[in-house]
Amino acid sequence: MKDKEMVCIVCPLGCRINVSKHQSDYTVDGNKCPRGKEYGIKELTNPTRVLTTTVKIKDGLLNRLPVKTREAIPKNKVFKCMKIIDCIEIKTPVLVGDIIVKDILNTGVDVIASRSM
Ligand code: SF4
Repeated sequence: MKDKEMVCIVCPLGCRINVSKHQSDYTVDGNKCPRGKEYGIKELTNPTRVLTTTVKIKDGLLNRLPVKTREAIPKNKVFKCMKIIDCIEIKTPVLVGDIIVKDILNTGVDVIASRSM
């Protein structure tokens, strides 16, 4: 049996949940809704995050453009992705949803612009 305590980050309520593993089955306690159970199990088996950050932009209204991954990426690749994104400088014009980095770190997920500029 393996127990792990964590805070569910799916909604602002932030329930404290406990995930236990019994052989190949998982039990989640403390969650106020089914999304917490799903989150807790995923955190133990395949934790992922949507990465939101900014990139340098030339000739823009602002110095940096907000970007995000189109979908969640493996949590253990977040810092490597940040290093790649930190080296990028793009030029205007950019439309919301434009691809800034295609298939970052072979995750199959693109980094896209979160706003137009
Ligand atoms: S368990 Fe449900 S109610 Fe609690 S923080 Fe997670 S999503 Fe929100």
